[in-house]
Amino acid sequence: MSKVYTKESNIEGKGVFANKNIAKGEIVLAIDDSRKVADDSPLRGELGESKSHCDWFPDGTVIYMQEPERYINHSCDPNSFVKTINGTRYVFALRPIAENEEITYDYCINGFGDTVWQCNCGARRCRKTIHSDFFHLPQEFQLEYLPLLDQYYLDFYKDRVQQLINEQLTS
Ligand SMILES: [Zn+2]
Repeated sequence: MSKVYTKESNIEGKGVFANKNIAKGEIVLAIDDSRKVADDSPLRGELGESKSHCDWFPDGTVIYMQEPERYINHSCDPNSFVKTINGTRYVFALRPIAENEEITYDYCINGFGDTVWQCNCGARRCRKTIHSDFFHLPQEFQLEYLPLLDQYYLDFYKDRVQQLINEQLTS
């Protein structure tokens, strides 16, 4: 049985909400990454597929996100994070999530590129102007989020991650 439902969010558009209390470390949902966007399987605008529901990976892979995960909003103080286990990406609870609380993750974890947007997450520590690149985050956020980075991201940005670890050790 699904642990989540979607409804209008105060953050942005539709959001994903818990339909029961979820414990810290528990799997919230499994992400369906089966719909790859490629030259031989482009976005189908006539079916309402839009770029805003795509997920980009540093190796150039583009996934068209399915429901409900495509509606998970960004927060600067998130209650979940995404990690790949045996080839499947899962959303895990970063802390206890109460029934009817919105599920959020920080889009900058595993983030890259130079997309910039204004955040409306309402968190006390909201960074307001958000830059998609993880390494653009203030260093205290990079260090806080370091254990949450996914393995493919650590592999792809090995040198920059090592540099961050070195800076942490010498500071
Ligand atoms: Zn924010």
